[in-house]
Amino acid sequence: MKFDTKCVRAAIAPDPTTGAIVPPLYQTATYVLPEVGQDRGFDYTRSSNPTRQMAEEQLASLEGMIHGRAFASGMSAVDAVFRLFGAGDHIVCGDDVYGGVTRLLDRVLDRAGIAVTYVDASQPGEIAAAMRDETRLVWIETPTNPLLKVADVEAAAKIAHDGQALLGVDSTFATPYHLQPAELGADIVMHSTTKYLSGHNLIIGGMVLVNDDEVADGLRFLQKSIGAVPSPFDCWLLMHGLKTLSLRMARHSSNAAQVATFLAEHPKVARVAYPGLENDPGHPIAARQMRNGFSGMVSFELVGGTPAGIELMNAVQLCALAESLGAVESMITHPSSMTHADVPKEEREARGLTDGLVRISVGIEDPEDILADLDHGLEEVSA
Ligand code: PLP
Repeated sequence: MKFDTKCVRAAIAPDPTTGAIVPPLYQTATYVLPEVGQDRGFDYTRSSNPTRQMAEEQLASLEGMIHGRAFASGMSAVDAVFRLFGAGDHIVCGDDVYGGVTRLLDRVLDRAGIAVTYVDASQPGEIAAAMRDETRLVWIETPTNPLLKVADVEAAAKIAHDGQALLGVDSTFATPYHLQPAELGADIVMHSTTKYLSGHNLIIGGMVLVNDDEVADGLRFLQKSIGAVPSPFDCWLLMHGLKTLSLRMARHSSNAAQVATFLAEHPKVARVAYPGLENDPGHPIAARQMRNGFSGMVSFELVGGTPAGIELMNAVQLCALAESLGAVESMITHPSSMTHADVPKEEREARGLTDGLVRISVGIEDPEDILADLDHGLEEVSA
């Protein structure tokens, strides 16, 4: 099956008893066993559930991978990946990642004895220089949150594998519609399914995809042992969100390309980050490794810096001032006070994440309405 067909059909079978085209929601905690010591493939929903399994198989198919493991949030999915490792192990992590990831590594997993080195993952040389004998994992986002830097997945995989480490890619911003990291050598692909994959601001969820059976078993063990699993209902909603992934991503990315071009030409805008712009530093690699466009996220700074950015975020009306991204509604975010507030200011600034940075998750509304909202908001900006 081609990608668009897989979105709608892969792993989704009609109900064999009634023929219902929409698979039933198995909203159950437990299962009646036929006999002591026997089950029908399911014994308790923390361990596994038919609806969850369907969503796991559907997303694995979209990534062209074998195993999917669903978690209660993107953060619990990241946490599960990191908990495959332990005291004495070292992770090389991209320095521009979602703020919750650095919070987890620096303030939770440091207590488990896992060490981390942050690098600019858009520079393969920096990844290579940070590798140690104890490095077990290289962890990157591409494009990154919020600076939209692009990492060369193939180069990162080679460096990780040369050092006997795994490459994990948080592909939340790209989605399998634009990028399939496993094709380029990634061992682990992770998504916050809260975002584009479910797509409608309805759920919080996460998923980890792997090909290796042992790593998949390790993740299944963590699902069961820690219990950070999504409800069957959230998995059912995810499954329906995935059906329209192609249509939504095509619109998100064409709208975002128009927003990025509009902003880049606006006199009140100082700088735009969008890998689809030809002069963006990430464009050459993004153009090589992404397909069908460059997704729906755009970040920028205004000429008037922080006060101007804040004025704009308060002035727009269609773009909702909200934490999160990847849903049908356009959303505008102030990363330094919202998504990345827990990253210390000096670290944020060292990474180029200024207080003036504005991030837009461009929705699927009519692009003229989104541009008119931004145009009006920029008119209100005094500087
Ligand atoms: N990864 C990225 C790139 C994100 O943007 C986010 C959340 O914004 C997460 C992971 C965490 O996902 P969740 O909010 O579903 O826990």
